Amino acid sequence: MNTSRRNLIVIPGDGIGPEIMAQAVRVLEWFRAKRGFNCDFQEESFGVGTYHRTGRFMREGLMEEILTADAVLFGAIGGTEDHAAIPTKVRREQGLLRVRREMEVFANIRPIKIFPSLQGASTLKPEVLDGVDFVIVRELLSGIYFGEPRGIETLPDGQRRGFNTQVYTSSEIQRIGRVAFELARQRSGRVTSVDKANVMEAGALWREEIKALHAAEYSDVALDHLYADNASMQIVRSPRQFDVMVTDNLFGDILSDCAAMVAGSLGMLASASLSAPRADGRRRGLYEPAHGSAPDIAGQNKANPLATILSFGMALEMSFNRKADADLLERAVNKVLEKKIRTADIAERGATVVSTSGTGDALLAVLDSLV
Ligand code: NAD
Repeated sequence: MNTSRRNLIVIPGDGIGPEIMAQAVRVLEWFRAKRGFNCDFQEESFGVGTYHRTGRFMREGLMEEILTADAVLFGAIGGTEDHAAIPTKVRREQGLLRVRREMEVFANIRPIKIFPSLQGASTLKPEVLDGVDFVIVRELLSGIYFGEPRGIETLPDGQRRGFNTQVYTSSEIQRIGRVAFELARQRSGRVTSVDKANVMEAGALWREEIKALHAAEYSDVALDHLYADNASMQIVRSPRQFDVMVTDNLFGDILSDCAAMVAGSLGMLASASLSAPRADGRRRGLYEPAHGSAPDIAGQNKANPLATILSFGMALEMSFNRKADADLLERAVNKVLEKKIRTADIAERGATVVSTSGTGDALLAVLDSLV
């Protein structure tokens, strides 16, 4: 077990962020107290709320601290109207996309698996869900969310025109392709690459580069290709067919929300975003649930905190080299679900519906019972 002292920055963010993060912090404290997790952590304010209070998304100096931290655990960002009121330029220069860009976390890893006891909570049939266990590897730092030119302009005839640019370079495609192939080697050895090579030049390049990389370095891994529209259909038709799915920023965003229904709810979907290894061999890690700030239920103590807690589990494994603790946490989550203690988003008939903090109470009790 790694015993050197580490540090983690905890950023609750907006909307349901503070409620779900409070439960993740209780779990973090439990691992510090009961499992010798030797980690300092600091809680920091960031997001739309911070902007409205202070005129900035984050305090001076925080970005530098983020860049040297061992890991960042993040809740969610976003409001509703108040978000739209912030100038686009400010949002782009200071928001979450900037944090991801500065951290250089280009590889977003989203495991899609169903806890057996949650099958009844999914909108999909149990026989479709049996044995589903795949990972979406989403490119996070390029594509249409970052491409230039972009903007809204007024045409000579008075119409307005909005435009964005889908852009990928060969090296960006190769580095995310490598992450997917390496991951597949540790799993069932299959990669499905998703693009729109039929209608987009950036998609055609994506497919060519993935094929070339496969032929040059990863021919031991099975590779197939799907168009993004077909991939969305296949995820709900037969999700068991997938092992590792690699795709671009936009398609990964959409397909992973679609795949969330395999896991029962967006409230169950964890993610890790990793950089390339730094000089010391370690990668920067940003861990966050796949969902947003859920303004419709914020402040009501009813959001599901498990995606955030499972994201902390991914940090334990990937940034802190504590696989046994990550497994323990996953076992504990499974036990809570087996007891049918559920927040409303995953409650099924016969379940005891609990609050966000009630889920935290149940999880800590189970953790105590497991050690
Ligand atoms: P959302 O993910 O916030 O919510 C979608 C739906 O899922 C809502 O009905 C919500 O109540 C539900 N939901 C989400 N998380 C849940 C949880 N933990 N427990 C129970 N139910 C949950 O997406 P949205 O409504 O499209 O966006 C709201 C805001 O979040 C926007 O400002 C958007 O820009 C932002 N957003 C942020 C991130 C992020 O921080 N990484 C990601 C997506 C959206």
